[in-house]
Amino acid sequence: MSFTLFPDARAALARDCLAGLSVGDALGAQFLVPGRPAADLAAGRLPPAPWEWTDDTEMACSVLAELVESGGIDRDRLALAFAERAEPRRGYGPGAVTILRLIRAGTPWPVAAASAFDGQGSCGNGAAMRVGPVGAYFADSTARAAAHARASAEVTHAHPEGIAGAVAVAVAAALAARGRLDGYRPAPDRLLAGVAAALDPATEVHRRVRRAADLLGRPLPQVVAALGNGSRVTAQDTVGFTLWVAATHLDDYPAAVGACVEAGGDVDTTAAIAGGVVAAYGGVGDPGGVPGDWLAAREPLPTWLP
Ligand SMILES: [Mg+2]
Repeated sequence: MSFTLFPDARAALARDCLAGLSVGDALGAQFLVPGRPAADLAAGRLPPAPWEWTDDTEMACSVLAELVESGGIDRDRLALAFAERAEPRRGYGPGAVTILRLIRAGTPWPVAAASAFDGQGSCGNGAAMRVGPVGAYFADSTARAAAHARASAEVTHAHPEGIAGAVAVAVAAALAARGRLDGYRPAPDRLLAGVAAALDPATEVHRRVRRAADLLGRPLPQVVAALGNGSRVTAQDTVGFTLWVAATHLDDYPAAVGACVEAGGDVDTTAAIAGGVVAAYGGVGDPGGVPGDWLAAREPLPTWLP
């Protein structure tokens, strides 16, 4: 079915995705605190509010602002926004700190991004963690979702795996939001097949998304052993796992975030990615969507967000 998606409707889908991303980030980060067992969440014991969000949310807010203001991703504008808005206390990795500092000092983003990691470029999960709203915004076209995701990744991640990670998450969010618009839940295997079809088959991210499809229905520890849980903070180690979670729990936001917390690893980022994709389908406040009390416990988003 072909249809017209007006800018306000696109932005609303992207905002719901951002709500899920930011709540996942903020709640997931609570479980990086020593002494807070993952079993607390499984038992329904939520950490005390406010839950502070981290770099995942800060960058995703810049992505959303760029979508709303430009109708897509302009790489020069996005690179500057990332660099100017980065607050050191939000937990940026050392690679990101270096790249953003170079951009802030006037280095063109292609040079800054290519210089990372001894000239290989970053294959970190940072481009994937912030990209969900791009996919939700382009719910009507996985091709456009993939193209704008690539643009959003390139300003900091020059490595093919870092870019593939962002394309994978954006396409998953696009398919999830499309399912919401059409009123049906995409089957887990179809969702993952749709993501894999959009990826460079030479990448490890592609291989792990395919592997995630083979692991549907398997127990979480087996999935983590095969796909990772983000503990290496690479796209390869993060994206296949998070999309397994999102495909499995697409109609149950708390279950998706709960699986990320239980899996351990880079929990703020895995919960941000899976939470964003699931919220692109389930929205906020409805059954299976982001719970209203969880959203209320999350620290407010930055005041500069349009
Ligand atoms: Mg973070």
